Amino acid sequence: MDFQRLEDAKLKGSTALVRVDFNVPRDEHGKVTDDTRIQSALPTIRKLQQAGAKIILLSHFGRPKGEPDEENSLKFIVPILSNTLGTQVKFADEINPNVAKDMQEGDVLLMENTRFHPGETKGNVALAKDMAAMGDVFIMDAFSAAHRDHASSAGIAEFLPAYAGLAMERELDHISQALDVPKTPVIAIVGGAKVSTKIDLLKNLVSRLDTLVIGGGMANTFLYAQGYNVGASLCEKDLKDTALQILSNAKTQNCEIILPVDLVVATEFKAHAKSHVCDLSSVKSDEMILDAGPDTVTAIMDAMEASETLIWNGPLGAFELPPFDTSTVEAAKFAAKLCKAGKIIAVAGGGDTVSALNQAGVSDDFTFISTAGGAFLEWMEGKTLPGVEILRK
Ligand code: AMP
Repeated sequence: MDFQRLEDAKLKGSTALVRVDFNVPRDEHGKVTDDTRIQSALPTIRKLQQAGAKIILLSHFGRPKGEPDEENSLKFIVPILSNTLGTQVKFADEINPNVAKDMQEGDVLLMENTRFHPGETKGNVALAKDMAAMGDVFIMDAFSAAHRDHASSAGIAEFLPAYAGLAMERELDHISQALDVPKTPVIAIVGGAKVSTKIDLLKNLVSRLDTLVIGGGMANTFLYAQGYNVGASLCEKDLKDTALQILSNAKTQNCEIILPVDLVVATEFKAHAKSHVCDLSSVKSDEMILDAGPDTVTAIMDAMEASETLIWNGPLGAFELPPFDTSTVEAAKFAAKLCKAGKIIAVAGGGDTVSALNQAGVSDDFTFISTAGGAFLEWMEGKTLPGVEILRK
C-alpha cells in the first residue's frame, strides 16, 4: 500500500501532533496491566525527538461522556512515559494554539483525553481545526483507532499534512501484505464465539481466500445449519440461512471451507470439565461443543502446509478453559513452526486472538500480530478505515 511515511515528513523544528493509543488496561488500583500500547508508541516519539521536532501526543482513554472526569484522565501516563523515555513529559488540559510555544525541540507534551471534548467522537470539524492549530504536521500512529472517524484520528488531517508513524507503518505494511497483495494460496482461520459479529468478515473473506477455516463457537451455527444436532452448544439458530448462504458463496467463489470434522464435548462449561472426542453426529442434547477434535486439527495443519499466507482471527475453541485450548494451541504452534521455517507468512489480530497466541507461546514466531481489535476486523471485512485513508498518497 502506498502511503505517506514518517520518512517523507519535514520534521526539524516542527511541532508534530501525534495520535497514539494510550487506552491501556488498568487494574482496580489503577496499575497498568499491559503496556504494549505505550511501548509501541515509543519508536515514533524517539524518532521525532532525534529529528528535532516538538511532540504533542493525543489519545483517547476509556469512554468518558464528552466532558472531563477524573477517572478517565490521562495524567497517569505522564510518570510512566517520562520514566521510559528518560525525559520529563509535560501535560496540558486545554487545547490551545500556543501550547507548544515554550517547548524545545525534542520536548514531549501529552494532551488530556481527547474524548473529554464532546466533538471528538462525532468527528467535529471545529474541534479538529482547533487541535490542528497546535501543530505543523500530523502523525497517525494509532492503527487501533483508525477505524473511527474521530476529530483526533482522521479530522486533523483535513488541516495538516498527515504521515503514518512507525507503529502504524508496521501494521499497514504487514496487513496489506497478508490481505491486499498476499502470496497465494491464502488461508484464514476465523474462530470465536459468534457468527453474528463476523458476518461481514466471512462474506468478504470467501471472495478473497483459497481456504477458510471456520472454528470456535461460530462453527456450531454452521454445523446446525447443515442439519447436525449441536446439543447445548453455543449456537445462533436464527443465522442458519446466513450460514448456508456463506457456504454457498464460498462454493461459487472456489473458496474451500474447513469446518470441524470431529468435536470435543462436555456437559459443563468450566476448566477441566470431563470431556470426550466425538463425531459430528454424536453430540447429546446435554453436551456442549467446546473445542475442535484431533482430526480437525490435522485437516487444518494440512491446509496450512499447502498455503503461503495465513490470516488468523479468533480461537478454535473455548481456549480460556483448558483443555479446550488444545486445538487452538496445536494449530498455533504448527503455524509458528511453518512461519519460522519461512514456509508461510502468518498474520493474526484481534483481542482474544492475541491472548490465545500468547497462551500458545507463539507470538514471537508469527510474522505479525496486530493488537488492534476493531480496526483489524474492519480491514479484514474490506471496509475503508478513515485513519488510513488520510495517509494514502
Ligand atoms: P471472539 O471475541 O468472537 O473472537 O470470541 C472469543 C471467545 O469465543 C472466547 O472467549 C472463547 O472462549 C469463545 N469460544 C470459542 N469457541 C467456543 C465454543 N465452542 N463454545 C463457547 N465459547 C467459545
